[in-house]
Amino acid sequence: MRNEGLGSWPARRARKTPHRTALIHGDTTLTYADLYERTTRLAHALRGAGIRRGDRIAYLGPNHPSYLETLFASGTLGAVFVPLNTRLAGPEIAYQLADSGAKALVYGPSHAGLVAGLPGNTDVRTYVEVGAEYEALLAGAEDEPIDQPVTPDDTCIIMYTSGTTGRPKGAMLTHGNLIWNAFNVLVDHDLIADERALVSAPLFHTAGLNMLTLPVLLKGGTCVLVEAFDPSATFDLIEQHGITFMFGVPTMFDQVARHERWAGADLSSLRILTCGGSPVPTPLIARFQERGLTFLQGYGMTEAAPGTLFLDAEHAVSKAGSAGVPHFFSDVKVVRPDMSPVDVGETGEVVVRGPHVMPGYWGLPEETAASFTDGWFRTGDAARIDEDGYAFIVDRIKDMIISGGENIYPAEIEDQLLAHPDIVECAVIGVPDEKWGEVPRAVVVPREGTSPDPDEVLASLAGRLAKYKIPKSVVLADELPRTASGKLLKTRVRKRYGTDS
Ligand code: ATP
Ligand code: MG
Repeated sequence: MRNEGLGSWPARRARKTPHRTALIHGDTTLTYADLYERTTRLAHALRGAGIRRGDRIAYLGPNHPSYLETLFASGTLGAVFVPLNTRLAGPEIAYQLADSGAKALVYGPSHAGLVAGLPGNTDVRTYVEVGAEYEALLAGAEDEPIDQPVTPDDTCIIMYTSGTTGRPKGAMLTHGNLIWNAFNVLVDHDLIADERALVSAPLFHTAGLNMLTLPVLLKGGTCVLVEAFDPSATFDLIEQHGITFMFGVPTMFDQVARHERWAGADLSSLRILTCGGSPVPTPLIARFQERGLTFLQGYGMTEAAPGTLFLDAEHAVSKAGSAGVPHFFSDVKVVRPDMSPVDVGETGEVVVRGPHVMPGYWGLPEETAASFTDGWFRTGDAARIDEDGYAFIVDRIKDMIISGGENIYPAEIEDQLLAHPDIVECAVIGVPDEKWGEVPRAVVVPREGTSPDPDEVLASLAGRLAKYKIPKSVVLADELPRTASGKLLKTRVRKRYGTDS
């Protein structure tokens, strides 16, 4: 095969394990042979519509088999796949379509209205709606193998970052980046061919696609695709499909652990539970450990495809709270601003290098140049390393509060606040203060039916945090703004709760 990229995976799997189940979605089950045939047909159809090597193909919709078929068909042609965030509004989608220069857009019926309202001045010439239109396209296309050369250095995906700190940037991920990342996951998670993964994290986000789905498909396991995360349905799906592997951001696991079915549910099939994407609260880790479930932690970012640090099962308890050590094919350092390595216990910036790290941002040469120093990608995250070399992610450097000359990382305070029985979510931000420059403020979401007293909340932190880290005020909120993948949007919290007016 001259295709050395991701697009060749369905063909390679169909050669090895044609009858194994690749994808399950509702009542639909696709074997690897089915996936190969459908992918090949779609690739023919897209080629017929004028798509060539290097062209961009966008996808907008919830998790569905056609998502992966479009990704693999795109890779079959040497084209570039652009997954779009389903929560974005029309103008934001129009921006990403124009920014990526996509020529084709495959979209779910849930987004037909949004697509109909898109401006006509993008490069999109081919629109395909998932459902009858998509199926008719496949049925009318050839199924002859396509022999398009693709190398590991060709771009496979333009994946937009979550937009937690600003406008999302398109990370260019090569086939090689994604393959090395999948190898890292296979090696470090000990994935087996009988893995059954629950994919309820969105496929447009790096975790759902790259940490969970692609490594399982590389190994020949089964992915159960779920359109929207729902804690109650999660219990049903785990039991129904004998789910072995889940990956989610902390809020997803938190909703599962707080659910009324948590105590009675049969979770015995679960082997691998990996949490990542934002700081993982220690009370959450403890809740899973109480049930005998080992909670692994992953740290990464879209730009690194994403696996960077990983805490394995062997150290999940002894190093709880740590994001672990670098993945097998990853090099990570924690450095001072001059790039010299920090001492044990000192806080510095995480930098990463390896075959899984992107060559750059799409169309943003200046941001790309600013993100790399001597070949190391600068993550913008603060961390400490312990005496055994285990990294503890502290927080984003951008979210740091400077109070009276002391650096305060909100995540540490949030971790302590979440230990309060009546607090389900919280965000700590800096607010202006005449004396100290900035002081921390806690914005907390109370447990339903409770109304914690701010003074009592603050008193509960005494003795557990240094005095200067204890918030000066507490604000109660109904909910906190989050990205589609469940990350806290600190910039919005600051906007809404950062002043007294
Ligand atoms: P943007 O770059 O657009 O602001 P984003 O950084 O949230 O958005 P992602 O690439 O999805 O976009 O997220 C990567 C970031 O998520 C990391 O840089 C880090 O700040 C955070 N993160 C990921 N895993 C962990 C973890 N285990 N612990 C703490 N933070 C984490
Ligand atoms: Mg980022």
